[in-house]
Amino acid sequence: MNHTIAEVAVVGGGPAGLTAAIALAGAGVETAVVAMPPAAHDNRTTALLASSVTALETLGVWARCADQAAPLRRMRIVDDTARLLRAPEVCFDASEIGLPAFAYNIENRHLLAALEARARDIPALTLIAARADDVAIGDSEVSISLGNGGRVTARLAIGADGRRSLCRATAGIETENRSYPQTALTFNLAHARPHGDTSTEFHTESGPFTLVPLPGLRSSLVCAVNPADAPRLTSLPDAELATEIERRSHSLLGKVAMEPGRGVFPLAVEIARYFGQNRIVLVGEAAHVMPPIGAQGLNLGLRDAATIGELVVAVRRDGGDVGSDDLTARYEHLRRADVGSRSLAVDLLNRSLLSDFLPLQGARGLGLYLLDQIGPLRRAVMREGVAPAASQPRLMRGEAL
Ligand SMILES: Cc1cc2nc3c(=O)[nH]c(=O)nc-3n(C[C@H](O)[C@H](O)[C@H](O)COP(=O)(O)OP(=O)(O)OC[C@H]3O[C@@H](n4cnc5c(N)ncnc54)[C@H](O)[C@@H]3O)c2cc1C
Repeated sequence: MNHTIAEVAVVGGGPAGLTAAIALAGAGVETAVVAMPPAAHDNRTTALLASSVTALETLGVWARCADQAAPLRRMRIVDDTARLLRAPEVCFDASEIGLPAFAYNIENRHLLAALEARARDIPALTLIAARADDVAIGDSEVSISLGNGGRVTARLAIGADGRRSLCRATAGIETENRSYPQTALTFNLAHARPHGDTSTEFHTESGPFTLVPLPGLRSSLVCAVNPADAPRLTSLPDAELATEIERRSHSLLGKVAMEPGRGVFPLAVEIARYFGQNRIVLVGEAAHVMPPIGAQGLNLGLRDAATIGELVVAVRRDGGDVGSDDLTARYEHLRRADVGSRSLAVDLLNRSLLSDFLPLQGARGLGLYLLDQIGPLRRAVMREGVAPAASQPRLMRGEAL
């Protein structure tokens, strides 16, 4: 039987898990990643905020995929509802806060390929292509049984195993859940007119309809719809779906052609009650699932990965136990406010779109109006969006661990 002994084991080879593993192993921590191949083809893209890109640059990942990413230099919000109180159109420009771009949009498959290639280059990182079948927590270590008959033991396990996390269940951590009457559909498109490095978010009665630039004459679309409409839309032939998308986007990008792959994601929030317990810490969607509104999900996941990397390296330097209760408590403390405040902001924005309650629509319109009119407020909001003041782990500041 193959038995791997590491200081830290990461369960899950998605973007959050691989980033944590690269951060740790790159700093010399013996790290094993147990990575089961993803079940389904993922056509999603991720808008990585500037601070996430800085972290990936620092880890030697970004150079391997930067060519596949498109900058988001401007963000436009358009109230596309037919309601009595409508918000003014607002446009944010990254140059106003001295940045070349707010974020870079990349297809998940390219980001994962770059992370995997970097992971393979690090001697302290062992990649194990297997499924974790069972996780057993002992006094001084965690033992993970693998589907291929192997086993991994480590002082700390990082649960990066997504929304149905085995690690989370093993640690006895429950989640708080909220679902929305919406389904997110994801498509990638080719189009006739240039996007001008501008993402456009149409606010509709069923939620945001967001076009995000990809390199060239291409964009990704995340479209929140009523769940009853989702099957009809996703089963339309390519040409009819393209016409429908062109109509909903008011021909902003001209004629549209569909690329292969259609994603369907019920919208929900799911947040773990604890981010760490019993020698297990949670990162990425194992810790928090966010609706795809405002590009928060993986950006939070990367801040989780950078934070746990920083804590483990510091504890190890001082000769401490990297799986101690003290470390999990510090991780919890550092991550809770960031995740809580982002999920609240996403929730409020989404509810203000869905609600027919006039004062709430008025408040959203007023908020956008003030952002449009008051330069210092707009710049403060932009800065906070790109790099949250309360959560800037070292990697996000471009400092190695
Ligand atoms: C439509 C949509 C659009 C989005 N857009 C954005 C965006 O623009 N910006 C942003 O920041 N975020 C965005 N997100 C969120 C982002 O996609 C997620 O946060 C991110 O993909 C989660 O990464 P992860 O590594 O935590 O989990 P996952 O990608 O789910 O990875 C988990 C991995 O663990 C593996 N695994 C599970 N169980 C086991 C096991 N027992 N043993 C071994 N391996 C296991 C799985 O196979 C998988 O590979 C979006 C989400 C959606 C739905």
